[in-house]
Amino acid sequence: MDRIKIQELKVFAHHGVFDFEKAQGQNFFVNATLFLPLQKAGRTDALEETVNYAAVCDDIVNEMQGKNYDLIEAAAEAVCVCLLNKYPRLQQVDLEIRKPEAPLDADFSSVSVYISRKRHRTYIAFGANLGDPLAQISAAKEAINADASCKILRSSEIIKTMPYGGVEQDDFVNGAFLIETLYEPEELLDFLHCVEQMQGRVRDVVWGPRTLDLDILLFDRLVYESERLFIPHRDMKNRDFVLEPLASLTPDFCHPVTGQTI
Ligand code: ATP
Ligand code: CA
Ligand code: CA
Repeated sequence: MDRIKIQELKVFAHHGVFDFEKAQGQNFFVNATLFLPLQKAGRTDALEETVNYAAVCDDIVNEMQGKNYDLIEAAAEAVCVCLLNKYPRLQQVDLEIRKPEAPLDADFSSVSVYISRKRHRTYIAFGANLGDPLAQISAAKEAINADASCKILRSSEIIKTMPYGGVEQDDFVNGAFLIETLYEPEELLDFLHCVEQMQGRVRDVVWGPRTLDLDILLFDRLVYESERLFIPHRDMKNRDFVLEPLASLTPDFCHPVTGQTI
């Protein structure tokens, strides 16, 4: 993809684990690569068709100086999240923060962190049948939108469904969200678990009653498996209460393994 590069932007800031680093400050150097399509800007010669690199430099300086972090990792994360949220044209930001004056007892020219953050699209199933399901779902929506790394782009209708899996319990309400996120899959799962917990989720009976369940159905076109996470969701094909809301959001999405549409 096309890109804009900003190199060796000098920023005086106050990051470091030592008190004197926070008190005195030092020079940092930022390298940023902004990924975005540039054809239209190239053909029209119009500034509004691209991202203004002068504005981006200001944003980087403001973000680097707005808060004093222990770690340049944290400063880099904050800069990437800020830029991706502020400029919808950006698909990805690669960012390096160099710290050539780091207080190291060694002969070195520079230390740096280099991170890469990009937008993902993920479909999340929600379900609830304890407490006040609609209130919990609406609180979950707020919590997701309040997070700097997540934004709900679309929500399905909420449907009433029969319990799945054989446990005697109240009917469910179910639905699905399309979310844009800067999280990677495992971080997204942790975040969704936090949102479930805020709504009083307790795990005792498998497939039992719950105040809120949030499952990752699809994540870009990723196929992923770890000890705690399967993407796409393993059982989605067997669940009408998942497929119906999902089909209302994206009927033609092809499952990345089976190739079947929703
Ligand atoms: P099911 O996943 O069959 O719908 P459940 O939602 O009732 O069951 P939970 O108790 O909410 O099950 O989750 C159990 C574990 O499933 C989670 O802690 C998580 O580690 C794991 N898991 C695996 N794949 C996914 C996924 N795609 N989305 C959410 N959790 C997943
Ligand atoms: Ca589930
Ligand atoms: Ca779950």
